[in-house]
Amino acid sequence: MEQVIIIGAGLAGATAALSLSKAGITPLILEARERIGGRAYSRPFAGAKDDRRLEYGGSWITPYHDRIRVHAADLGLTIRPRAAVKQRLALRDGEVGHPRFDSPAEREAHERALARVAMDAAFTKKGLASDEQGRPLAGITYKAYFDRLAPPAATRHMFDAWWTTSGNGAHDEIAATEFLSSCAYGGGLAENMIDVWSDTVEPGMGVLAERMIAASGATLKLSSPIASVTQSASAVSVITAAGETLQAGHVLLALGINQLAAVQLSPTLPALAAQAVARGHGGKAFKLWIRARGIPVGTVITGDSSGIELMFAERNDADGATLIVCFGLQLNDAAPEDPAWVKAQFSRLAPNAAFLGYDWHDWIRDPFARGTWVAARADMMEAFEHAAWQPQGRVAFASSDYAPEQAGWFEGAVRSGEAAAAWLIRQASH
Ligand SMILES: Cc1cc2nc3c(=O)[nH]c(=O)nc-3n(C[C@H](O)[C@H](O)[C@H](O)COP(=O)(O)OP(=O)(O)OC[C@H]3O[C@@H](n4cnc5c(N)ncnc54)[C@H](O)[C@@H]3O)c2cc1C
Repeated sequence: MEQVIIIGAGLAGATAALSLSKAGITPLILEARERIGGRAYSRPFAGAKDDRRLEYGGSWITPYHDRIRVHAADLGLTIRPRAAVKQRLALRDGEVGHPRFDSPAEREAHERALARVAMDAAFTKKGLASDEQGRPLAGITYKAYFDRLAPPAATRHMFDAWWTTSGNGAHDEIAATEFLSSCAYGGGLAENMIDVWSDTVEPGMGVLAERMIAASGATLKLSSPIASVTQSASAVSVITAAGETLQAGHVLLALGINQLAAVQLSPTLPALAAQAVARGHGGKAFKLWIRARGIPVGTVITGDSSGIELMFAERNDADGATLIVCFGLQLNDAAPEDPAWVKAQFSRLAPNAAFLGYDWHDWIRDPFARGTWVAARADMMEAFEHAAWQPQGRVAFASSDYAPEQAGWFEGAVRSGEAAAAWLIRQASH
């Protein structure tokens, strides 16, 4: 019988393995995929001469992300600052240019909307559920919030572009606070979200997860999806999809909310967590890497609330082409899997650039992800909070999706893995 089995070799599981090994516990890790890292997925652009890795899952860490910086330094990874933003352009009335206003009244309405969002971001950061007039901030959708704010159309397009990198789901389902709390990091301004994405980890965040597991000395079984986890008074039985049964004293389910839907648990999850799993989080962004010529590094372009809504020219590759990271929502008629659609979308936002190709990972259709980063539903916020995910019997939970802090980020996965490992270590010492 194993002392501890960790299910899932994403950053949460990898961090937990490392923490456990420092306390003298060497876990067995069971990972569904044939690779380590989960939503940390670093690999070269398909077919390019440049063998530097790009991040197909998460990319950036912020100045506030201290635990991940400690692990990166310990394991010999490098912190690379993001390219500076040099120009900001917007698509308006079919043309791409510097943001402009049609009238003084539009400029004034734009500034009023920015100021209101900055206030509401500050209230959200303080944990207030409503504004100074008692109007709700928590528990309402992004759509309800902006219908109330009623900014000019071009201002709304700008907000929607930054929504694809924060709330990243259906406007009428996901909580407005997902957007407001991201604005709070940038002093209340949506456009400052990019300034907070200060660094990436090289050679890649997936490599950090690999090194954590190697350093932990854990036994790792890849291509081993778990079908069920059953607790008795003295042990936990884990059954793989291939029918193998393993026993452990304790199990760490290092799985996100949408991934847990594929695992049968006995006893079942506590009520709130079970609700979150039943409906799933709503994170549905797509992230693409486009290679192009004729667009300088440091350019940010925002769209018009459809298709590709945000692009950032991130760096040059070995051929001198620009690598551009793009975001939109994988909803309605978006077709990021279709090269013709991607090329047409790119041409709307960068009409003078030459499109050379693109690469991406489909997180929504990936059976071991079933979504991007966590996006809490407005009508069930509590189910996404860490408090709903406390250990149950001999089983603990760890994921960025319901982390004690920095949920949704890599940092959240690391902190969640550390917290779960601390609990497991306490159980072992009893
Ligand atoms: C497109 C995209 C962009 C992002 N951008 C950023 C960013 O810029 N900065 C940032 O900090 N964060 C970003 N994130 C979020 C970040 O990637 C995640 O929060 C973090 O990687 C989640 O780690 P985790 O360990 O909680 O979950 P995961 O990485 O999902 O790990 C869970 C693991 O469990 C495995 N698994 C699933 N089902 C089973 C099963 N049945 N049996 C066994 N194993 C199973 C999975 O294969 C996976 O390896 C982004 C995410 C995406 C998708």
